Amino acid sequence: MLADFFDGLTDLVYIADLETHDLLYANAACRQRFRITELAGKKCHKVFRDSDSPCDGCALLPPRRREQVYLPHLNAHFKIYEAFSTWQGRKARLLIAREMTTQVRARQLMRRQRGVESLIDHCSRLLAGDTGSLHTLILRVLEEIGLFLEADRCSLFEIRAHQACNTHEWTREDISALPDSRLDLPETIYADWLPRLRQGEILQRDGIRFGVGQHPCDGVRLRDISSFLIAPLVVSGRLTGFLEVENPTGSRAETARTALAAISKFMAATIERSHLLNTLEHHSRHDPLTGLGNRHAFQHDLQQLSSPGGAVLVLEVNGLKKINEIHGILHGDDMLVRLAGLLAEMEPGAHPYRLNGGEFALLWSYVGKDVFREALRRMRAMLSGTLDFSAAVGGCRLADGEAPLTAYTRAEAAMFADKKAFYRHRESGRYRPEGDHVLELARPGVLERLLADGSFLTYWQPKFKVADRSLCGVEVLIRLRKDGRIIPPDQFIPLLESLHRCHLLDFFAFEEACRHLRVWLDEGRAVVPVATNFSRHTFVMPDFLERLEAIRRRYAIPLELLQVEITESADSRDHERVQEMSRLLSRHGYHLAIDDFGVAHANLATLAEVDFSVLKLDKRLISALEDNPRLPKLLRMLIMASHTLSITTVAEGVERDRQLDILAGLGCQEVQGYLLARPQPVEDFQQRLARLTPPSAAGTETPVVTSA
Ligand code: C2E
Ligand code: CA
Ligand code: CA
Repeated sequence: MLADFFDGLTDLVYIADLETHDLLYANAACRQRFRITELAGKKCHKVFRDSDSPCDGCALLPPRRREQVYLPHLNAHFKIYEAFSTWQGRKARLLIAREMTTQVRARQLMRRQRGVESLIDHCSRLLAGDTGSLHTLILRVLEEIGLFLEADRCSLFEIRAHQACNTHEWTREDISALPDSRLDLPETIYADWLPRLRQGEILQRDGIRFGVGQHPCDGVRLRDISSFLIAPLVVSGRLTGFLEVENPTGSRAETARTALAAISKFMAATIERSHLLNTLEHHSRHDPLTGLGNRHAFQHDLQQLSSPGGAVLVLEVNGLKKINEIHGILHGDDMLVRLAGLLAEMEPGAHPYRLNGGEFALLWSYVGKDVFREALRRMRAMLSGTLDFSAAVGGCRLADGEAPLTAYTRAEAAMFADKKAFYRHRESGRYRPEGDHVLELARPGVLERLLADGSFLTYWQPKFKVADRSLCGVEVLIRLRKDGRIIPPDQFIPLLESLHRCHLLDFFAFEEACRHLRVWLDEGRAVVPVATNFSRHTFVMPDFLERLEAIRRRYAIPLELLQVEITESADSRDHERVQEMSRLLSRHGYHLAIDDFGVAHANLATLAEVDFSVLKLDKRLISALEDNPRLPKLLRMLIMASHTLSITTVAEGVERDRQLDILAGLGCQEVQGYLLARPQPVEDFQQRLARLTPPSAAGTETPVVTSA
């Protein structure tokens, strides 16, 4: 049946035994092309490659998909598709090949005939595009150069510790490639070239001939080179390698230098961009402080867990903020690093992560029931008193058929229960994170009472355009007034979040924003968009949009005057919910801002998946801007990427002029920070608004809106 089907194809199809390489089947087209009359005794490598030995790693190599191969003995090109299969009970490799010789020849001819400008243009487009891996891109460019110059070979050598290695190589099809074409040139060979390459020169050498077998690196069979061209590859200001073209022939020699000079620059830029992306990618999976996987990596790995045996454990240091306050951030950091080390050491069978602040997790892909119970007990014992800090712990193995996220939620619920016990028994922890007045908020009815009696206030922190420092927005920040003291949100928000009660505060702040806007609009003042913060618990509430809308409508505030801020650290359990909600809000015309976006925890997926229009760069990034030379480059990319997605970038925590200058250079659009304005009582902010040109006046330069 299957054989009949294959016989009807014009593509060549054969099936060969994975171990013996015996040809088990060949369709009619294949038999004809390879002149096979009798299958018995035929080996696939002999037929297909005219080689007496099997291809390297045949049984191990993953099946190739859509790869182009050239078969010298037939002087023909094929596009091949492979799959592992079984044939009459034997493990086999199935290969389907489509002949491409005519198309390839036509393309080659076209490339040979094009002018040097067109070559440069084509290569620069290839390198600027994002199709395929860096490796493939470079190979394609080498091929273009090689064909254009009618050369024998074209290679990229990378210089590493006194050797230059040809990490990428294209060879003219009628020159047989060496079985192992990798070449390590010792520095003695290229040392003389270095000074001129560093100057950016293209070197041209004639008459240098490494005969086969006479190469200075002993034993290496080398090429017969009569002339070659070398172009420097300068990446991030450093000579990191060179392009080499062997035996260029034809009439193109004069234009070769121009082409190589330009293309090597494009290639260097592409390599640099790829390095940066790799760095970003690494950052996006690792926590810079402890070196453990970060939340992003955790989310990914959590999804891979399954029952039986998959397990998750979460723990959170109690009162980290207080520890930082009392002993300093360095001490706090040191403690987190120690804890990270302990986790890795105590549970070698698990994978450790730092999720955020003092929150850690361990994942086991397989652990026995008793072993896990013991691990949990050990962890509790260690973290409830043997160290100079304590942590709440919770964990569970995946139940039969349970989704990993559900197990994570269970583990976290157990951890929260542990945490509440810590907050209740003040003597149990050496550091109590919150004072009595804050702990009181956990008691039923207290939060509602304080909200009703005006104990919560809003502070307003302006945002400015980088270009001209004009006021362009404001963020509402909550404060608690208690016995004449103003308590900042960091002291009570975490507690309320852990109790899932933050929404009361969030909607209060949002209503305050709407209420004030209504007053100002009625007074005919110029106003700017107002941003409010929402905890993620609030954001994913099923009726979040309805509640926002109820408040907004009550005060008749135009949507463009409001911005919803949520923090970036995506939590795996609600990731999809966040995406959904972001789309829903955006469809309704709300503007969403991602807060605290940091490269350290950069969740690149956020950029792609969540529908938002403002990206707020975390103040920790901004504070490191002047000292970390790589940071501006990373930020430039982020800002550029945001720009192309029509996302406005806002830098938070700008405290110095120098930071503002750097940000301006990087193309960041808006800033917020002590340098230009601190969070201030609403009356003070209102005075700033009063200085804006009122909407009735002509020629306003600020983003003002007046009516509903
Ligand atoms: P956030 O949303 O990132 O707000 C910015 C924080 O950075 C504010 O702290 C602000 O005072 C501070 N800040 C602004 N400029 C500078 C600067 O130049 N240098 C430094 N070092 N800090 C600067 P604040 O007001 O203490 O708020 C802390 C966090 O509390 C907020 O961080 C936000 O996550 C949360 N928060 C505030 N209000 C609410 C609310 O209504 N709901 C929720 N869920 N969270 C809120
Ligand atoms: Ca914020
Ligand atoms: Ca922030």
